[in-house]
Amino acid sequence: MTNLLMQGVGMTSLRTRERLIQRLRDQGVTNMRVLDVLLNTPRHIFLDEALAHRAYEDTALPIGHGQTISQPYIVARMTEILLGAAGGKLNKVLEVGTGSGYQTSVLAQLVPNVYSVERIKPLQDKARERLRQLGLRNVQLRHADGGFGWPEAGPYDAILSTAAPQAVPDELLKQLAPGGVLVIPIGGREQQLHLILRDGETENYITQILEPVKFVPFLSGTSR
Ligand code: SAH
Repeated sequence: MTNLLMQGVGMTSLRTRERLIQRLRDQGVTNMRVLDVLLNTPRHIFLDEALAHRAYEDTALPIGHGQTISQPYIVARMTEILLGAAGGKLNKVLEVGTGSGYQTSVLAQLVPNVYSVERIKPLQDKARERLRQLGLRNVQLRHADGGFGWPEAGPYDAILSTAAPQAVPDELLKQLAPGGVLVIPIGGREQQLHLILRDGETENYITQILEPVKFVPFLSGTSR
């Protein structure tokens, strides 16, 4: 796996990638495992050729169908929050909004079992091909409306949404394992990143509002 990922590294100078990692550190990302994975993940393969030269800028970029690949800072931050909140015992994670598959590939290098749902079929198809290229076999993809989660594969130690609903979807809360966490942007024009912890075996949830963010909207239904 590492070798395949490293082939990608050769295509962009290590200095360019290291500059990005330094930027993430300057913005407060501290988890070294997360930073290491971002350094070694070839973000350019998740973009169309015309935009690939901008892959190591710390910015969201269009991936077609009105969607964007998340900004490296937010990918690093959400992954760090997820790993930290779960106290290092993450086994199974659900992502809502596969998009390009970039966040998915970062998770797959840190968590044994990754499930990811995407409502736009052509995006999912491309993401599947990229994950295959990278040799990441611990990911299951599904074409579905993530508002319903993926109940058959749950419960999850953590759920991460890369699209922003107006309110927390109940179904996602229901699919959290005891002590599990949901990291999700909530809102419309103004969004806040929420960290929601299921309190042990109970149906009580503890919510923490983390920071303002900007994600594409969480939409219902699927598209082909
Ligand atoms: N993590 C992705 C982010 C893509 S943008 C990346 O870095 O590339 C968010 C994605 O969420 C879009 O692809 C959008 O189609 C998808 N999405 C929005 N609402 C959804 C829903 N209800 N179910 C599944 N996917 C959804």
